[in-house]
Amino acid sequence: QAKDAGRNLVRFFNPAMQAAIDTRMAMEAALRQALERDEFHVYYQPQVDQRERVIGAEALLRWRPQGNEAISPLEFIPLAEETGLILPIGKWVLDVACAQLKAWESDPRAAHLKIAVNVSARQFHEPDFVATVQDSLARSGVDPTRLQLELTESVVLEKIETVVSRMEELNALGVSFCLDDFGTGYSSLSYLKRLPLDQVKIDQSFVRDVVDDSNDAAIVQAIMAMSRSLGLNVIAEGVETHAQRDFLAGKCLGYQGFLFCEPIPIEQWERVLK
Ligand code: C2E
Ligand code: MG
Ligand code: MG
Ligand code: MG
Repeated sequence: QAKDAGRNLVRFFNPAMQAAIDTRMAMEAALRQALERDEFHVYYQPQVDQRERVIGAEALLRWRPQGNEAISPLEFIPLAEETGLILPIGKWVLDVACAQLKAWESDPRAAHLKIAVNVSARQFHEPDFVATVQDSLARSGVDPTRLQLELTESVVLEKIETVVSRMEELNALGVSFCLDDFGTGYSSLSYLKRLPLDQVKIDQSFVRDVVDDSNDAAIVQAIMAMSRSLGLNVIAEGVETHAQRDFLAGKCLGYQGFLFCEPIPIEQWERVLK
């Protein structure tokens, strides 16, 4: 019997490899059920302006599988993309973010805030992506100008014509765009100029050593200058220290980082809004 059971099993010789595959398969199986089991949560990290007033929030997905510790999006988003599960998951995040914007509309302290939602390549390139966003907006009844979508360079580097026209369709609805992790990809200036962007987010890898590393400082200065001349707002991501903030002071629209606040569940936003 043991022999029968073993016959159809593909085994790798390397036990570490097999373990990795088992883990991946287990994670994939768990991910498939995560939505219906309500294991996802959306956290919101404040974005602040130069005067440290809150101007918006980035929606960041959290996954806490039953009986397990939370798994970082850096681990499960790539798997969700490969399997296509990012489509229902991403749609869910959009719905939650739009519902939150709607809830904020009736709170004078929050009615002006925007929410930025991360969109993966797989989502953005789905033929019905625009309709999906439109549907979330329509069902929540929220003002589309308060929704911002974050795209990375890897999303926009493919098929520029399609990307631009898709972005323009969403722009026409009122939705704005932010280029996330800016500086880590390969987009050229001439390329960037063609995209209907509102904002860029300087990647945290440049912010980290901006005070001590003259190369990073130069990159940050260049991104600021370029953005200014293209009429783009700049958000600096990953600001953790006063020294970093002081270096960036006056040079960008705003900041996002642990110095101001970590991503937090919505219940904890009361203290942010106060
Ligand atoms: P991202 O969009 O670049 O998000 C910013 C990440 O930086 C977040 O990590 C945030 O917690 C972290 N961060 C913010 N401030 C600081 C800081 O001062 N120091 C440090 N060290 N980190 C800071 P998180 O939440 O783990 O998300 C990682 C990535 O996962 C995101 O990077 C994004 O690419 C992806 N992601 C998260 N939620 C979603 C989602 O709903 N959909 C998609 N497609 N991707 C998502
Ligand atoms: Mg982001
Ligand atoms: Mg980023
Ligand atoms: Mg990132």
